[in-house]
Amino acid sequence: MSGVQGVERAVVTGVAGFIGSHLAEALMLQGVNVVGIDRRSPSCDPMAAGNLENVLGRRGFQLVEGDLGELDLGPLTEGASVVFHLAGVPGVRPSWGERFGDYLASNVMATQRLLEACVSTGVPRMVLASSSSVYGNSVGRPSREEDLPFPLSPYGVTKLAAERLSLSYAVRQDTPLSVVALRYFTVYGPRQRPDMAIGRVLRSVLTGHPLRLYGDGVQRRDFTYVGDAVAATMAASLAPAQAEVVNIGGGRSVSMLDVLACAAQVTGREVPVLRDARQLGDVDATEADLTRARDLLGYEPSTPLAEGMSQQWKWISS
Ligand code: NAD
Repeated sequence: MSGVQGVERAVVTGVAGFIGSHLAEALMLQGVNVVGIDRRSPSCDPMAAGNLENVLGRRGFQLVEGDLGELDLGPLTEGASVVFHLAGVPGVRPSWGERFGDYLASNVMATQRLLEACVSTGVPRMVLASSSSVYGNSVGRPSREEDLPFPLSPYGVTKLAAERLSLSYAVRQDTPLSVVALRYFTVYGPRQRPDMAIGRVLRSVLTGHPLRLYGDGVQRRDFTYVGDAVAATMAASLAPAQAEVVNIGGGRSVSMLDVLACAAQVTGREVPVLRDARQLGDVDATEADLTRARDLLGYEPSTPLAEGMSQQWKWISS
């Protein structure tokens, strides 16, 4: 997989988040100067502080605290070879109801502001964090990028809107901007958001508080280790593409019951479980067809679930 050779300066939005903070670290290891943007401040948000502890204060890293809906983005994107746009409000369940305005503002309106800034400052590449949730239910085989998207949650709708919006900028004739939108399939690993499944499972083992298992446990997910997702994201910065959508998955789909069994194996303890109703917007199964990721990015997921979960367990239990 190609790296980021030649990239001197990159912008990472959502840098205080789970995937963004790993990406910033990996870029800096390759000598890239990173301008990280996030509205969460490490001075008042302990999770953001923890995520950023390996990069804050390091030479070559600049943190800009603020909302993408308000910041003056022109000076921040000026001179960047690539903008990694990972900021967004994630999560399927809370996207129903009151909070939808924030999803719309952060996932769609903020993306439009950033795209305008990229066009006005001549940024050649944006890599956008899209999501497997744009697909809705898989159709009995791994989802391919050309499948008709059918998001089953307001969150998925905003991710699809951001993706399509970005591609519409990328095919404009009057700008050098190109876009690779990565449809991440359930990313996990150290620093995973606390609302996500594998983290909730491992925390239940640690605390003994029962895990709320939504539905019957046979729902399947394609879990992607964060190191693999980051490698793909870096490769997308230089991939030969004008306006592309690419699946990024872990290489296999497993059920929640398999996750519980794997967690028991990794931790040596049973997971206490409390059955609960299936949640609105949850899909039955996700699975990525990785043909395009292999062809365009040279991507090959390399971290099996047990190994990735064991890394996350070490992080959670420390
Ligand atoms: P995260 O919540 O840990 O990180 C997102 C960061 O974006 C947060 O730190 C947040 O403060 C910041 N942010 C949100 N709105 C902002 C705004 N308006 N201005 C400035 N900063 C803002 O989420 P994550 O799990 O790291 O996900 C990163 C991206 O990947 C998101 O766009 C998400 O939709 C997408 N994604 C994640 C997964 C996954 O499994 N984690 C799967 C598919 C897609």
